[in-house]
Amino acid sequence: MPSKKSLRIDLRRLILVLAVLSALGTLANGLYAAYRVQRQVLIDHSLQTSRAYAAKVASGIGEFLRSAQQQLAYSAGILGRGFEDPDVLHAEVRRLQMQDRGFNAVGVADASGRVLAATPDGKEMDGRILQSPGVQDALALRRPTISQAYNTDAGRLVVFISHPIVDAKGTYLGFVGGAIYLRLEGVLHTVIGSHYYQGNVRAYVVDGNRRLLYHTDASRVGQLVGPNPVVDAVLEGKDGMAQMLNSEGQEVLAGYADVPLANWGVVAQQNSQLALAGLNGLMKQVLIGIAPLSLLGLAMIWWLTSMISRPLNQLAEAAHQMTDPATPERIRGVRSWYFEAEHIRHALLKGLALMQEKLGRLNVAATTDPLTGLLNRRAMTEALTALEDSGQPFSVIVLDIDHFKRVNDTYGHDAGDEVLATLGALIRQCSRSGDLPCRVGGEEFTLLVPGAPVDTAVQVGERLRRLVEQTRLNRVGTVTISLGVARWQPGAGTVADALKQADQRLYQAKQQGRNRLVATGQP
Ligand code: GH3
Ligand code: MG
Ligand code: MG
Repeated sequence: MPSKKSLRIDLRRLILVLAVLSALGTLANGLYAAYRVQRQVLIDHSLQTSRAYAAKVASGIGEFLRSAQQQLAYSAGILGRGFEDPDVLHAEVRRLQMQDRGFNAVGVADASGRVLAATPDGKEMDGRILQSPGVQDALALRRPTISQAYNTDAGRLVVFISHPIVDAKGTYLGFVGGAIYLRLEGVLHTVIGSHYYQGNVRAYVVDGNRRLLYHTDASRVGQLVGPNPVVDAVLEGKDGMAQMLNSEGQEVLAGYADVPLANWGVVAQQNSQLALAGLNGLMKQVLIGIAPLSLLGLAMIWWLTSMISRPLNQLAEAAHQMTDPATPERIRGVRSWYFEAEHIRHALLKGLALMQEKLGRLNVAATTDPLTGLLNRRAMTEALTALEDSGQPFSVIVLDIDHFKRVNDTYGHDAGDEVLATLGALIRQCSRSGDLPCRVGGEEFTLLVPGAPVDTAVQVGERLRRLVEQTRLNRVGTVTISLGVARWQPGAGTVADALKQADQRLYQAKQQGRNRLVATGQP
């Protein structure tokens, strides 16, 4: 039965599919794990970068504020000693602004908030009462202050830093203060810009009221920041990092640090997508790195699959054609190198041997006459066909017991059978190896003598006739037989014709008085 090889699901394909699927699965899983790890590493790294940047900026701002306060404290000492002298006040205010370029404006006011000296506005400011929140704080608290951002009457966004002025007895006289105009390029830009600018990290600064003091987008300076967990955290004085969505809905990797001196916060953030931009390149490198070994692995799988499936496949093919005479040899030739295949091979060979033995036994039963042990009619027909096919000439002797009915009638059927068995033995006795003695039915026998001329067959038949005649049988005494002989050779009719001729000669022998032999060519 030819099998459709192209469509067949066989063990090799199954193992191959299984192995390749699991290999690819493992590979994909590995790649995915590598991707996840790399991604997390990049995210962690970017978060750390943001955090470090925020901390640097916060400490830079802190340092600036501290130094500004120290400047003001120093000036407050000088001003306290010459508070009554307008020249001293004006000189100190000028000196202060010259010295500290961080301040956009510097001024001295008395305890009621009246300006005594100011710069850069000069004398026009003198005598004015200042109402701004920064001034109010300075007057109310009478200690060093750093204000939250506020808008002035002149429309400026300002942070105000002040220091109280006291006289030698410690009496409060007023304050000296500096303003930073946030919308101008100023100190915050300088502080932030002076730090190494980290890739795509952007920083912004908020005050305690969530107002933006600094932003890379200058138009946002002065705006209030909406709900934002990072701003909440930094204004609670915490520092840290977070993966979150920014005000535009983009995912950012943020780090934050507070400026404790002013209750301000610095947030540094970078866009996740930009931070992860290198990931695809990294993964490509990973893939290129593992590709050769993976291909080698697949080739190994391919090879091992054939090695495992080949013996079973060969055994299965052999089992498919058990009746083929070449099958046992093929099965013996299978290299079954592992336990299961070896046992199947062994079992197949054993099964095959058993089958052949059984078939042999069946064949004997099918071709042998049980009473005499001679070939039966079927076997004789097969033998005749084989002789005819091979073109081997032969003589045929047909014989029949004379008056056998009487034997049966007189001594019984069993005695008759005994006579038949004895006759079988006598026929075998008279035949040589290569001759084919047959019982073709009842008490009729044939003896095929391959290769023999009629003369030889006549001699054999005569010898047999005499032997039977002389043989004493239990109870029955003796019996005689009549024989007919004919010959077949290629080209001279069919074997059936030859058999018919021999039958006719037997008939003649009966006619002529029995216990005799008549052969072809005899009258
Ligand atoms: P003839 O000399 O003309 O051959 O006379 P015959 O009595 O032998 O006549 P025929 O050959 O026609 O008789 C065959 C007899 O053989 C009939 C049957 O009783 C007997 N017979 C046939 N087969 C068997 C058998 O298997 N066992 C026994 N015991 N008898 C058989
Ligand atoms: Mg007969
Ligand atoms: Mg007879």
